[in-house]
Parts: sequence; C-alpha cells; structure tokens
Amino acid sequence: MTDCLFCNIAAKEIPAEIVLETERALAFRDINPQAPTHVLVISKAHHENAAALAEADDGLADDLLKACHAVAVQEGVAESGYRVVLNTGPGAGQTVFHVHAHVLGGRSLQWPPG
Ligand code: 5GP
Ligand code: ZN
Repeated sequence: MTDCLFCNIAAKEIPAEIVLETERALAFRDINPQAPTHVLVISKAHHENAAALAEADDGLADDLLKACHAVAVQEGVAESGYRVVLNTGPGAGQTVFHVHAHVLGGRSLQWPPG
C-alpha cells in the first residue's frame, strides 16, 4: 500500500532506525519514544491491526511475537522485563493502521496503562 507509512518504512522508502530485520518482520525505533527502549515491530506485509494479522492465520503473528522477544533480548531488557503493546482500533489509541507491536522497556512500567 503506497499511502501506508509503515509499508513505506518496510520498503525502505521512508527512513527509520532499524534494529532488527527478519524474513517477514521489521523492527525500528519509535520516533517519539515513551521509554528508554521503544521499538516498533511490524509485519512487512500490510495487515490493518492485530485482529487482521491473527485472522490471516499464516504464522505471521507467531513471527511477530518472536521478533518482539528477539528485540527485547538485543536491547538488554528481556531480564528486567518489558511490555508488548498492540493498540487495536482507534479507541485503544491506534493511529497507524498497519499492525505494529510496541516493545517498551528500560524503566519501571505502571499498570493499569492509561
Ligand atoms: P499507535 O498509536 O498506532 O499504536 O502507534 C503508532 C506509533 O508510531 C507512535 O508511537 C508514533 O510515535 C510512531 N510513529 C509515527 N510516525 C512514525 C514515523 O514516521 N517513524 C517512526 N519511527 N515512528 C513513527
Ligand atoms: Zn501498510
């Protein structure tokens, strides 16, 4: 999708600070970080949100979660703890409609989230 921001980042047409790349996933730093580690993990293929990704049922949701954990290990937050957030739908705060998992860590995270 040419008008999708994250499709353009996946195609390397819009620059991003990439931290990890696998066959089907790409991880890059959030432009407006909310924690010392704030990385977005996307599927290279366009799916609107986590629900659409799960519905596709082709193993991609599995790949995405594994990539999130690999990022946490690489960023050194796997031991201390990290959070994976998939905002799904406008009411949950989703603003970019290409599935992305936020991997947050490096500070104490409160619960419940806002
Ligand atoms: P959402 O609100 O949809 O869950 O998350 C979208 C995230 O994308 C936000 O945290 C926002 O800071 C990030 N973001 C928006 N535009 C860009 C961009 O051009 N580059 C990067 N690296 N992150 C972006
Ligand atoms: Zn897209």
